[in-house]
Amino acid sequence: MQREKQIQLAVAFLASDVNRFSINALTGAIEQDQTLEVTLAFPHPRDAQTEIARLLTGAQIVVVAFSFMSSALLFTRQVLERLRASFARERERVLFVAGGPHASGDASGTLAMGFDVVFIGEGERSFPAFLRTLTTSRRDFSDIPGLAILDQKSDKPRVMRTGRAAPIELDARFPSIGLRHRRLGAIEIGRGCPHACGFCQTPFLHGARMRYRPLDNLLWHIEQLVKAGFKDIRFVTPDALAYLSDDGVHPDYARLEHALKAMREAARGAKIKFGEFPSEMRPEYITADLAQLIDRYSDAAYVAIGAQSGSERMLEAMHREHDVSAVELAVSHLVAHCRKLKKVYVDFIAGLPGESALDEAMSQQLMERLVRISPKVCIHSHTFMPLPGTPMQFMPPGSVGKTTRSTFEKLSRRGQEWGDWQQQEEIAHAISAFRQETRPQKNDGPL
Ligand code: SF4
Repeated sequence: MQREKQIQLAVAFLASDVNRFSINALTGAIEQDQTLEVTLAFPHPRDAQTEIARLLTGAQIVVVAFSFMSSALLFTRQVLERLRASFARERERVLFVAGGPHASGDASGTLAMGFDVVFIGEGERSFPAFLRTLTTSRRDFSDIPGLAILDQKSDKPRVMRTGRAAPIELDARFPSIGLRHRRLGAIEIGRGCPHACGFCQTPFLHGARMRYRPLDNLLWHIEQLVKAGFKDIRFVTPDALAYLSDDGVHPDYARLEHALKAMREAARGAKIKFGEFPSEMRPEYITADLAQLIDRYSDAAYVAIGAQSGSERMLEAMHREHDVSAVELAVSHLVAHCRKLKKVYVDFIAGLPGESALDEAMSQQLMERLVRISPKVCIHSHTFMPLPGTPMQFMPPGSVGKTTRSTFEKLSRRGQEWGDWQQQEEIAHAISAFRQETRPQKNDGPL
C-alpha cells in the first residue's frame, strides 16, 4: 500500500516576553517527537503578517499559534482580527489556534473571538498530536484530548470539547527548552499547585498535584544553558521552596540543600537564581533556616512573595491558607538573612470583591509596616481581575479605592511600589464586559 503523502506544515508561534516559557516548552515537546516534520517560526505579533506570508510560500498549511493571558485579551483580539482579515483568501491554509491561561479558562469565548481551535490546559501532548493529524489529510481532531472546537455540523454551531488531556510529567520527554530552535530560558521545575487561591488560574490550569522536574533532568537543563552561554539560570515554579518535597507544600530542607548544591556545581560559575522571579515562594514556609539556605546557595536578587491582602477575612475568603503575620515574618527573614537580595516584592491585590473599607485600611497598614522593615521591600501592586477558569471568575472587576490609590502613589514616589494596577483596572473591566458578550453556552462543560 502506498504511504499517504505528508502535508507540509509550518507553525508561527506569536512570541512575546509573557508567553515565552509556554512556547519554549511546546517547542521542546515538538522537538522530542521524532515522527513530526514541521517548520517552526517565532515572530513577534507585530511581525506576524510578514512571517506568515513567508511561511505560506513553503508550507501547505500554516498554524498561527497564540498563547495568552487574560491581561492580553484585547490586544490578542486586535491581532487576530488583523491577521484573519489579511489572510481571508487563505482561510483553508491558515489556521488560528489559541492556548494558555485565558483560552483554557474561557474556551467558548476564545472560539467566539475567531479562533479555529482552542487548547485547554497543558499543550505538550495535544499540540503535537494536532499537528500530526494536520500532516495527514484528516481534519477530524475529536480524538485528541484537550481541545475545544466549534462543531459546525449542527445548524447552530456549538462548542465541542474533546475531554481533558492527561497531565504530563516534567521529565526528559517534556523539556522546558527547545534546544534545536534555540528556545532557551527559565527552567520549569514545578507545575501544578496544591493551594487553591480563588483568583489564580494555576491550580485550575495545571491541577492540584505538584509535579517536579527530577534533579537529574534539571541539571541537564542547567548544563545546556551554561553551554549556550547563559550567565543567569532562572526557574519557574509556584513555590520554589517546596521543590522535591513529598506533598508539594512543606519544604524538605535536606532535599532542597542537596539539589541546590548540585545546581551550583552544574552551573560552573553561572548564577543560580533559585527563588527569584519568575518563581515565587509561599510566605508561611520562609523560615530563618530556609532564608539562610537561599543565602548560601542562591544568587537570587529579586524575590516575590504573595500577601494579597492585610485583612485576615479577605485572606480566608480567597483561600490563601496563611495569615497576615506569616507575610511579615517571611519578609523579615528574607531581609535579615539573604544578603544578595536587592528587592523583596510583595504582591497585593486591590479592589477585591466584597472588600470593606476596613479590609482596605488593613491592607494599606500592612503595606506601610512591610516597607518599614527595609527599603528593599517593594509593594507589587495589582488590581483584581476576574480571571476565567477561577472560582472568582464571575465576580465584579476590581476598582481601586481612593485611599489605596493614594497609598500606591505615595509608596511609588519612595521607590517602594511597582505594578500595573492602573492598567489592570481597565483590563479587569474589559475582561468582564467581553465575557458578558460571549457568555459560555449551556452545552459547554466545565474547564
Ligand atoms: S497564587 Fe500561588 S499559591 Fe495560590 S493557587 Fe496560585 S500558584 Fe498556588
